[in-house]
Amino acid sequence: MATIDQLWTFLKTVRKKSFTELILCLFLLVLIPTYYFVDVFHILPCMYRLPSGSIWYLTHVLPLTFMVFNLLTNFVAVMYADSSVVGRLLTVSEYTPKGIQYYSEKKEDIMYCTICQCNVPLRCWHCDICNVCILTRDHHCTFSTTCVGHYNRRYFLWFLLYLSAASFYEIILIGYYTYYKVTITFSDFMVLVPFQSIISGFHLTVGQIFVVLLTLNLIAVTMSSLLLIYHLNKVRKGLVCHEKQESNYDFGLMRNLETVFGEKWYITWISPFIKSKLPYNGIDWHSHVDQYKTK
Ligand SMILES: [Zn+2]
Ligand SMILES: [Zn+2]
Repeated sequence: MATIDQLWTFLKTVRKKSFTELILCLFLLVLIPTYYFVDVFHILPCMYRLPSGSIWYLTHVLPLTFMVFNLLTNFVAVMYADSSVVGRLLTVSEYTPKGIQYYSEKKEDIMYCTICQCNVPLRCWHCDICNVCILTRDHHCTFSTTCVGHYNRRYFLWFLLYLSAASFYEIILIGYYTYYKVTITFSDFMVLVPFQSIISGFHLTVGQIFVVLLTLNLIAVTMSSLLLIYHLNKVRKGLVCHEKQESNYDFGLMRNLETVFGEKWYITWISPFIKSKLPYNGIDWHSHVDQYKTK
C-alpha cells in the first residue's frame, strides 16, 4: 500500500533529523496561529469596538487571514512536496541507504551516490540530514526539517514572503496597540535576558508578554526578508544556493521563474493549492541546457 510505503520512507529519512529541528518546526506551527488568535480575538476587538467598527475590523482580519493561511499552508507544503529521488529514480523498496561515503564521480555528467546507491543527475545532491538525494537541491531548511529542492522551492519562497509580510504587519499592529494600551517599563525588557524568566518563576507581566511578541516579530521580519532577497536573487539568476554565478542554468528571467514556480508562476502567490506545472522534472538538466544553448 502506498500509504505504508510512504510512512516507511518517512521513518527512514526522519530518524536523522535532530530534536532541535523538530522543536523549531513545532514552535513555528504553534506560534503562527497563536499570533493570529491574539490579533483576531483580543487586539483588533479592543481597537475597533464591535459591531460599529466591523468594517475596520474586517479590513484587518481578511488580509491577515489570507496571510496566515498562505503562511501555514506553504509551510506544510514545503514538508509535504518531497523532492527526493525516492519515487522518481528509485522505488521505495529500492531505497536502502548504506555506506558513509558521499559522492564518487562516475562519468562526466553522471554522479553516483554511494549512500542511496544510484546514479543521480546534475544538480542532485545527497542531504546528510534527510539521508537521501534531493533533485535540484537548494538547501536543508531547519524549520521545516526538510530539504528544499526541485518540487518544493516554490512553497518555500512564498512561505518566506508571507512570513516577512505577516511579521511586518504584526510589528505595526502590536506596536500600535502596545503604545496606546499597554504600559511597558524598563524592567519588562529584562524578560529578554536568557533564563531570567526561570529565575523569576515565570511571573510574566502583560508588558513582558508584549515585549516578547514584538521581539520575536523583529527577529522574524529581519531574517525572513534578508533570506527572501537572497533566494529571489538566486532564482533570478537560475541558481540554487551552492551554485556559482557561471552556472549553466540561467534560461532567462521568465524561464527561471517558471523553473521554480511553474507555468502559472504569476498566480502561485494566491495559494499553494493552485496547480502550476513545472517545465522540468529535475532529472534531465543536461538536455535542457543543450536545448537552450542551441536556440
Ligand atoms: Zn544519496
Ligand atoms: Zn535535507
